[in-house]
Amino acid sequence: NQKKVVVVGGGFGGASAAKYIRKLDPSIAVTLIEPNSTFYTCPFSNWVMGGLKEMSDIAQTFDVLKNKYNVDVIHDTVTGIDPINHSVTLQGGKEVKYDRLIVSPGIDFNYEAVEGYSEEVANTKMPHAYKAGPQTELITRQLKEMKDGDNVLICPPGNPFRCPPGPYERASLIAHFLKKNKPNSKIIILDDKEKFSKQGLFMKGWERLYSDIIEWRSGSMGGKVSAVDPEAMTVETEFGPEKGGVINIIPPQMAGKIARDAGLTDSSGWCPVNPITFESTIHSGVHVIGDACIAGAMPKSGFAASSQGKVAAAGIIRLMQGKVPAPPSLVNTCYSLVAPGYAISVAAVYKLTSDGIVSIKGAGGLTPMDADDDQLSEEATYARGWYKNISQDIWG
Ligand code: FAD
Repeated sequence: NQKKVVVVGGGFGGASAAKYIRKLDPSIAVTLIEPNSTFYTCPFSNWVMGGLKEMSDIAQTFDVLKNKYNVDVIHDTVTGIDPINHSVTLQGGKEVKYDRLIVSPGIDFNYEAVEGYSEEVANTKMPHAYKAGPQTELITRQLKEMKDGDNVLICPPGNPFRCPPGPYERASLIAHFLKKNKPNSKIIILDDKEKFSKQGLFMKGWERLYSDIIEWRSGSMGGKVSAVDPEAMTVETEFGPEKGGVINIIPPQMAGKIARDAGLTDSSGWCPVNPITFESTIHSGVHVIGDACIAGAMPKSGFAASSQGKVAAAGIIRLMQGKVPAPPSLVNTCYSLVAPGYAISVAAVYKLTSDGIVSIKGAGGLTPMDADDDQLSEEATYARGWYKNISQDIWG
C-alpha cells in the first residue's frame, strides 16, 4: 500500500519536488514524467548567446534522480489528467495512477498576440529562445552570421512573464558579443512595458559599457510591437516598421498546455493555488508549482520554482502522514550578468500573510547602485556559484 506521487515536468520545479520527496520520505514512490532526456536550463542560456558558455554547459540529465534517488523517470508527455480517478494519460498510451500529482509544465506562448508570428516563425526565423534548446542555438548562430551593421531587435512582453530580468541580461550579453565581433551593430529593445526589473542597475551598466550599442524604447515611446514580417525581417511599431538582422520576439505567456487542458488555470491563464502546499484551488490532489502557478509576489524564476517544489514536497509528505502542513518560507535570488566580471542581483525572502505570499521587508534587496567594481565582480562570481549549486541541488 505504498503512497505514490507523480510529477509532470522535470524542469526547475518538478525535478526539485521529485528529488526532495525521495530525500525527505523514501517510503513514498515518485514517478517523474518528462519528454526530454536532456533538459537545457534557461539560466545561463543568455551566456551561450554572449559566447561565454556552450550548450553542453547548460545541459542537465535525470541519471542521478533515477540511479541515486530511485525516482521512476518516464520520458513521455502527459496528455491528460483525470483528477477524479487520480490518473494521468501519456502520449505513449500508458495510464499512471497517483495519490497526489505535482504539475510543473512551465510556460507556453500566446503567438496570436503578435500578428504574423507563430511557432513555425519562432522555430525558423525569429526565435523567442525563451525555452532553452534549439532556439538558443538558432539565435546564437544568427548572431554569428549577422552582417556587421545590422541591428538586433529584442522585444519583451508585458508582465507577468518568465524571468523578468531575462531579456535585459540577454541584451547585455549580446551587446558584449557585438562589441567584440560586430562593432557597427546595435541592439534596440522594443519593450511592451514602461519599466523593467533591475532597471536602474541595468541602465547604469549599459551607460558604462554599451552606451552606443543598447537603446531601450518603452511601450509609450514606440516599443510596442503589433506585427512581424518574417520575410522582410521587420517588426511593426506605432512609429513605423523597424528592420533587424536578428529579431528576438518574446511573446506574452501562459501556463503550459497540460495545465490549461486539465482546467487548472483561471481567466488569467495561470493556475491559482493554496500557498501553503501549492495544491490547486480548482482540483484537489493536484499541486501546481513553478512558472505555471500564481505565487503572489514571487517572480517566475527557476529559483522560485525550485523553492516551491521543496515546499510542495514537504506539504505533501505531511498530508500523507496525516499531519497539518506548516506555513512555508520561500526564497528567490536572480543574478544577471551585464558583462564578464560584472553582475547585478535581486534577492527576497517570502512569507505567507492574509494577502497571500509577500516579500519580507528588509530581508532582501538589490545590488547597491553605488557598488564598486570589486562588488560587481564578486556578484559575477556568485552568479557562477549560484548556477553550480542550484543545478547540483536539483539534478545532481
Ligand atoms: P521549466 O523549468 O520550463 O520545466 C518545465 C518542464 O515540463 C519542461 O522540461 C517540459 O518539457 C515539461 N513539460 C511540459 N509539459 C509537459 C507535459 N505535458 N508532460 C510532461 N512534461 C511536460 N531563473 C532563475 O532563477 N535564474 C536565472 O538566472 C534565470 N535566467 C533565465 C534566463 C532566460 C533567458 C529565461 C527564459 C529564463 C530564466 N530563468 C531564470 C527562469 C527559469 O528558467 C524558469 O522560471 C524555470 O524554468 C521555471 O521552472 P518550471 O519548473 O516552472 O518550468
